[in-house]
Amino acid sequence: METVSDYFGCMVFDDRVMKAKLSAKVYQSLKKTIDEGAELNLSVANAVAVAMKDWAIENGATHFTHWFQPLTGITAEKHDSFITPSPDGRVLMEFSGKELIKGEPDASSFPSGGLRATFEARGYTAWDPTSYAFIKGKTLCIPTAFCSYTGDALDKKTPLLRSMEALNKQALRVLKLFGKEDVKCVRTSVGPEQEYFLITKEMYEKRKDLIFTGRTLFGAMPPKGQEMDDHYFGVIKPRVAAYMEDLNKELWKLGILAKTEHNEVAPAQHELAPIYATTNIATDHNQLTMEIMQKVAQKHGLVCLLHEKPFAGVNGSGKHNNWSISTDTGINLMSPGDTPYENVQFLLFLTAVIKAVDDYQDLLRIAVATAGNDHRLGANEAPPAIISIFLGDELNGVLEAIVNDTPYAGAEKTTMVLGVDVLPKFTKDTTDRNRTSPFAFTGNKFEFRSLGSSNSISCANIMLNSAVAESLKIFADELEGKDEAAIHELIKRELKAHQRIIFNGDGYDASWVTEATEKRGLLNYKTTPDCMPHLMDEKNVKMLTGHKVFTETEIRSRVDIMLENYSKTVLIEANTMVDMAKKEILPAVEAYAAEVAKTAGLKKAIDASLALSYERKAIAKLSVLTDMIDMKAEDLEKVIGKVKAVGEVIEESYEIRDALIPAMTALRAVCDEAETITAEKYWPFPTYGDLLFGVR
Ligand code: ADP
Ligand code: MG
Repeated sequence: METVSDYFGCMVFDDRVMKAKLSAKVYQSLKKTIDEGAELNLSVANAVAVAMKDWAIENGATHFTHWFQPLTGITAEKHDSFITPSPDGRVLMEFSGKELIKGEPDASSFPSGGLRATFEARGYTAWDPTSYAFIKGKTLCIPTAFCSYTGDALDKKTPLLRSMEALNKQALRVLKLFGKEDVKCVRTSVGPEQEYFLITKEMYEKRKDLIFTGRTLFGAMPPKGQEMDDHYFGVIKPRVAAYMEDLNKELWKLGILAKTEHNEVAPAQHELAPIYATTNIATDHNQLTMEIMQKVAQKHGLVCLLHEKPFAGVNGSGKHNNWSISTDTGINLMSPGDTPYENVQFLLFLTAVIKAVDDYQDLLRIAVATAGNDHRLGANEAPPAIISIFLGDELNGVLEAIVNDTPYAGAEKTTMVLGVDVLPKFTKDTTDRNRTSPFAFTGNKFEFRSLGSSNSISCANIMLNSAVAESLKIFADELEGKDEAAIHELIKRELKAHQRIIFNGDGYDASWVTEATEKRGLLNYKTTPDCMPHLMDEKNVKMLTGHKVFTETEIRSRVDIMLENYSKTVLIEANTMVDMAKKEILPAVEAYAAEVAKTAGLKKAIDASLALSYERKAIAKLSVLTDMIDMKAEDLEKVIGKVKAVGEVIEESYEIRDALIPAMTALRAVCDEAETITAEKYWPFPTYGDLLFGVR
């Protein structure tokens, strides 16, 4: 029988393949580029290209593509075939180092926020050798960054790589303070837990809202929702189990370490988590995972919904970004050490993260802002839009002791460090895993939980890496050339200064919002239009450009693109609602009312003295509702017109937030009410009950 280790990574041009297919000299040189970012010369690239092509052809590929992550959508690719005509009228399969290193897709169809003048609509893609090439279908996919000819980043990978480099640079400076001269490189790792819904393809195809927008825009709650929690603890249904098995196999072939899978809180909701990897690889893998999840679902007659909020009133889907920093020598800098000395280093890095999250709360919020995720944040199912950190009782106790100069109760009485007893060797605390915190310390990593399920994890990690790089830079600037006492003093001072961001209570509690905003002065940007323009705040531009993660122009273009995307998304939803209300819901409710009226007529013909009170009541209710649906649909159409007339992207997003979304909510309310009194066989599309309990 074929075992997992037989096929794991079989579609990846990974280290094993490179070693086997490249000369020792070429391999060494490529390895230097991958591990240390050394420059790659063309002769090496040529040799790699030939080996890659031969391997790809052996494995059934006929085409190659530069695979990249534009600012909207999942990934993009433009396939070119390997074939080149040969003089004898036949074809050769060719692929050069130049084609490997650089591509020129037509960039004009990807959003650039005005970065590319139309006369220079061409951008270029550049190979990212740190992420392995892979075969998908019949195509060799080469992970690349996507830039304009002027060098501005048009994708999500370029700034991510820059942010990793910024953090590497500053972390190395800080590690030098601890005498860690042997460390060559510091990298962040990420393990993203991915939530999703599975519904049947048959039902999906009957709903325009799912087809056009990925979520339901109408739907009354079924008699049973998620209140029983029986799905979470229940066994995985055979059809879902078959899907998961197939999905794992496809992911494993691509070298993606899919590891855990289970049901989630909502019916029909599931989760997949991989083993963590270096951030840019984890990002590529998560993008691929989302794509493969959808593809495999099709094969099983299912549809995988990655939208953040496919069903109102039912938990939405998020993505947990588990994040840590580690050295090439194998030290996890987010892991408390065994000795007081290591603990000082851990505490300094921890302090850097705390400071980063406090100083750049807005950037973390912005990184997860999309129209879809606006439905989740602060809606009693996901962490609130307010960013705060959960540390857990034990670590919190240690930090409080440092700040207040009091002895830490749990510590043994040994050497005094930081003015308090030694930080004890503490065990990973699994008892009080706080699920309501947006940014939780979980023993040896932080879990950023505000990401939406369809978000690329790039943006969150760009902001996180950059903000932490900034803290580390400030620390290194101050501490270089100073003694250990200065480190202790800085830790104490900074922890004191950033106490407000630490919150170990219930993030879903309404009192937290008041405390956070009124007492602590934390930010609460509820929606995408509320937060997105703040990307251009002076402090943010200064920090991000200072670490060369973005240029000012890139920042501006991103605000435009993200808001444009927000507007387009909600406008499509609004238009779909009008369409469904007018063409499907109204006629259905009318038809049902007509049937009731017909029944009343028949009854009357039999016995003219019948009161027909049920029919009268039903018809009266249905008539009121059809009038309301018609009116609310017209209101919504008017608002759509108004939004389209605004013309300026920020103002337009405000109009959507303040007028369009409320008009959509109003239309939905009357339609959902109509659903509850219309006979089931008249309802024009599958209901929540059908969708949520339809996969068996
Ligand atoms: P949970 O209880 O939240 O499901 P798990 O222990 O299953 O937590 O881990 C969730 C994710 O965190 C996995 O993807 C795992 O690989 C990842 N992870 C574990 N350790 C680290 C680390 N040091 N850095 C980044 N991610 C990590
Ligand atoms: Mg988790």
